[in-house]
Amino acid sequence: MELKTGQEIHGFEVKRVRRSDELKGTMYELEHTRTGAQLAWLDNSERNKLFCISFKTTPEDSTGVFHIIEHTVLCGSDKYPVKEPFLELMKSSLNTFLNAMTFDDKTIYPISSRNEQDFLNLTSVYLDAVFAPSLLKNPSIFYQEGWHMESDESGLSYKGVVLNEMKGAMSGVDRVAMQGIQELVFPDNCYGLNSGGEPGKIQDLTYENYVATYRKYYHPSNSRIYLDGAVPLDRTLSLIDSYLSRFDRQEMVFDIPYQAPKARKQTLTYEIGKDDDTNGKSQYVIGALGCTWQDKTKVMVLGALSDYLADSNESPLKKAVL
Ligand SMILES: [Zn+2]
Repeated sequence: MELKTGQEIHGFEVKRVRRSDELKGTMYELEHTRTGAQLAWLDNSERNKLFCISFKTTPEDSTGVFHIIEHTVLCGSDKYPVKEPFLELMKSSLNTFLNAMTFDDKTIYPISSRNEQDFLNLTSVYLDAVFAPSLLKNPSIFYQEGWHMESDESGLSYKGVVLNEMKGAMSGVDRVAMQGIQELVFPDNCYGLNSGGEPGKIQDLTYENYVATYRKYYHPSNSRIYLDGAVPLDRTLSLIDSYLSRFDRQEMVFDIPYQAPKARKQTLTYEIGKDDDTNGKSQYVIGALGCTWQDKTKVMVLGALSDYLADSNESPLKKAVL
């Protein structure tokens, strides 16, 4: 299917069309007229069809609210009121990819399949999950995935899927060091926070704040939708429009301020085994601001340079230190 700039299709307007030899296809950029939702489709005839919806999610604290939202939108929705649709799809669909990820500044929900009907089913489940989740009506979903208290013979303790996941993640020295350096380098914006949730801070999150955060960020005007491959475009756009059109356009500005460089240091501790020797367990981490995200060449060069210097035991810097 070929689209032309200015063409209207299922509530969307085609804003830009670009041929890319590198991507072996045509990139179409569309905007949903009613809500302002942005959609890009890479038409490259690839049999594997991909749908991904993402939201800009910039945390304001380290309660892990966006990580908990990511888990819980996949715990049932209006049209698919089962307890764990995600696990059902894992077992029963023909998906070639199915997941959800929370980053420091965005949350993404990608699916893909080679089968057209399966692709549409998966897209439908994910759209229903992000725009009509059961979490709004059923607080126990939040308590199960986020945090709650349980009592047993040893007394009261905190439990919760995300809480346990983050306790595990934050018990390794590498993650503690990584989080620590991000906190130091980015004290004034979202990159200094723990978007996954800091055990100890996750318990500060209330059901009310969690629902308010969901409503604030999970809106078509704050979304980006990406399609790739030989998708059945008419049916896909019509399905997407049926969800987006339930909303009205909202002004959404979640700016991330640039971080001014600041010289800072801190000492952090991490857990080791009771009988472990503390000798040789210290680590030294150094980090600096290199450039802004807009300086794409420099970002790439710095990545290559750090790979060259320290990627393997044979890399010059690492070899010298070892
Ligand atoms: Zn998780």
